[in-house]
Amino acid sequence: MSPKRIYNFNAGPAALPRSVLEQIQSEFLDFKGSGMSITEISHRSKWFEEVLNDAVARTKRLLNLDDRYKVLFLQGGASLQFAMVPMNFLSDGRTADYVNTGTWSTKAIKEAKLLGKNIKVAASSEDRNFAYIPKNIRFTPGATYVHITSNNTIKGTQWADFPDTGTVPLIADMSSDMFSRPFDAGRFGLIYAGAQKNMGPAGVCLVIVREDLLKLVPETLPTMLRYIIHVENNSMYNTPPCFSVYTAQLVLKWLDETIGGLDKMARINQAKGDLIYRMIDDSGFYRGTADADSRSLMNITFRLPSEELEKKFIAEAQGNDMGGLKGHRSVGGCRASIYNATDLKAVQTLVDFMKQFESQNG
Ligand SMILES: *Cc1c(COP(=O)(O)O)cnc(C)c1O
Repeated sequence: MSPKRIYNFNAGPAALPRSVLEQIQSEFLDFKGSGMSITEISHRSKWFEEVLNDAVARTKRLLNLDDRYKVLFLQGGASLQFAMVPMNFLSDGRTADYVNTGTWSTKAIKEAKLLGKNIKVAASSEDRNFAYIPKNIRFTPGATYVHITSNNTIKGTQWADFPDTGTVPLIADMSSDMFSRPFDAGRFGLIYAGAQKNMGPAGVCLVIVREDLLKLVPETLPTMLRYIIHVENNSMYNTPPCFSVYTAQLVLKWLDETIGGLDKMARINQAKGDLIYRMIDDSGFYRGTADADSRSLMNITFRLPSEELEKKFIAEAQGNDMGGLKGHRSVGGCRASIYNATDLKAVQTLVDFMKQFESQNG
């Protein structure tokens, strides 16, 4: 009997490509003739080193990174990056701008302030419950960096184009849209992304840092919190989360070889998002919560006419093998997370179900 698999709309941890899961299963007891599982092998072995180096190489290729960029796989999730970014780059006398577009940006700002750093909230969309991405932002001249959240997992908004910050490096939390579309990485000083949304299991965070910023890292920081240490040790200063890195490497390989790169991935993601948003816009029953020009192609947030109907919708969807449609506990409503591994068929199945639910309850 083949295992039961549902249509997975979870926000994170989230769906992974089936072929990746099957490959993990097939080589779990004997990784590449080693006679050991990848979870039993030394991280200093040739087997693991190949995995890590392939993950780094594919990240560079998929994003067209030049040699100034260092690719790291760290622990502590995106949440530790909220603190590591200001700790490493903002010494006394320096300042940085933050754009507040939702729950995760708010947490990044909170960490910087907790550390006593001099930061400024250059723009915020809090006035309308983060339903939009701010435009025409005036950034502080001479700031050390500008921090943004490229996709707002909880509020369902996404930067369509990144802001022009001149010579000030952009730093982005891309946890929930990393590798979903191509972009000009050359404008960024640092990018970070917890793996468990769009590129693997929990336990590893991708960090891409431009080498000129490493000059700012203070000597006095604890060793594990210094980016330069992880660059000098190829993410192996201490034992890395081997299984999470391995899974992420297989997902990157899938993106590279099976999907065919980020242009192709972006086209698929656009088609998926269009299907759902068109249906919502045509319905009068469902209501999207994000402004049209700020909508996320990864997390689609919507409401039904009442909370009772939302409960019923989520329960009936579950009964039809569609999981993860409940909105984040802080906002309520519904959310369909349609990351890279959630395919067009899953999205079409959801749209058909939504139409049917509307006709029975509208
Ligand atoms: C999930 C998420 C986080 C938190 O990630 P952790 O890896 O759990 O720390 C941060 N930012 C964004 C945009 C997220 O979606």
